[in-house]
Amino acid sequence: MLMTDHEDAGEMAVEKKTSAVALLSGGLDSTLAARILLDQGIELHALNFHSPFCTCTSKSSSSCNAVEFAKKLGIPLKMMVKGDDYLISVVKNPKFGYGRNMNACIDCRIFLLKKAKEYAEEIGASFIVTGEVLDQRPKSQHVTAMNIIDREAGLEGLVLRPLSARLLPPTAPELAGLVDRKRLLEIRGRSRSIQLRMGRDFHLIDQYCANGGCRLTDKEYAAKVRDYLENAEVPRMVDMKWMVVGRHYRFDGAKIVAGRNELENQQIHAWKSDVDAIVELAGIVGPTAIVFSPYSSRAIQFAVRVLLEHSKARDNADIKATIDAGGSVEEISIEDDEIADIDSFRVCYQNYLRSKMQCDQPNVLQE
Ligand code: SF4
Repeated sequence: MLMTDHEDAGEMAVEKKTSAVALLSGGLDSTLAARILLDQGIELHALNFHSPFCTCTSKSSSSCNAVEFAKKLGIPLKMMVKGDDYLISVVKNPKFGYGRNMNACIDCRIFLLKKAKEYAEEIGASFIVTGEVLDQRPKSQHVTAMNIIDREAGLEGLVLRPLSARLLPPTAPELAGLVDRKRLLEIRGRSRSIQLRMGRDFHLIDQYCANGGCRLTDKEYAAKVRDYLENAEVPRMVDMKWMVVGRHYRFDGAKIVAGRNELENQQIHAWKSDVDAIVELAGIVGPTAIVFSPYSSRAIQFAVRVLLEHSKARDNADIKATIDAGGSVEEISIEDDEIADIDSFRVCYQNYLRSKMQCDQPNVLQE
């Protein structure tokens, strides 16, 4: 059970070794934060969250070295997957808004801390440890945001951020004497020099995953997620696999994805459901497109246009297309439905900006 006041904390300290839940991302900061607390004799239980938005997926593990770091630190690790609830409550409907793209960082941190709180209550841990650094990220790592995050997660005074703790008000475990505040740090800002030096000193640097990040901060990826969330009746995390595959288009209400290479064509075939349509050019080696249900015959014809645009058969008047819908394959002729600018239907950041401008400033564009 989490301590609710300092008296409780004192009692717990007498009864047993103080334990805490450490959010372990697999990056350097959270590992150092855990290491600092371990050095103070705190028993740690690591918690790692994984999702399709994480760019830090090593070949040997799905958790960006969190497994290796937990082993190195000698602490147990629980893995959690961000599921549909994350997609709907954080990415689609964030209470505190987005950062630069689809990264709803404040809501994201609240979500993670709520899960960490549940886990802490389950195992009887007293507080939560994170690797956050004050002012390292503009959206979620300043004092006001941290206060909101802790309050909304029901964890006021119970989130210890060892890397910046001496720049922040003392937390309950510090006030209760469970953690020695003097041995915590006062790192602030985006420079990683102190962390890198500590990483070398603690022999953690070899495993440090510098490529770790969040796809929701990428503007092109975010454009696809935004389009998906605006159109999906019931958003599902499993659909996020499509966000890194192919060229995406939205035409006549339907979503069309065209493979950019053989691997993506294979993925399209492998992931297709019975209600979607696979479109290919008959007798031509080239891209495969999927048209997601529900779709119109115009959307199918648009998919054919996309395939033609990206194949060597572009000027071949006799070419036909095949449609595989639910296992029944038929050949269709290509209709002479000239779509002037296929790219204007592309789901991309540029088109998102254009549509936003049209909504925000209709008169400017009309002039
Ligand atoms: S960058 Fe991504 S993973 Fe990190 S807090 Fe923001 S939304 Fe969450």
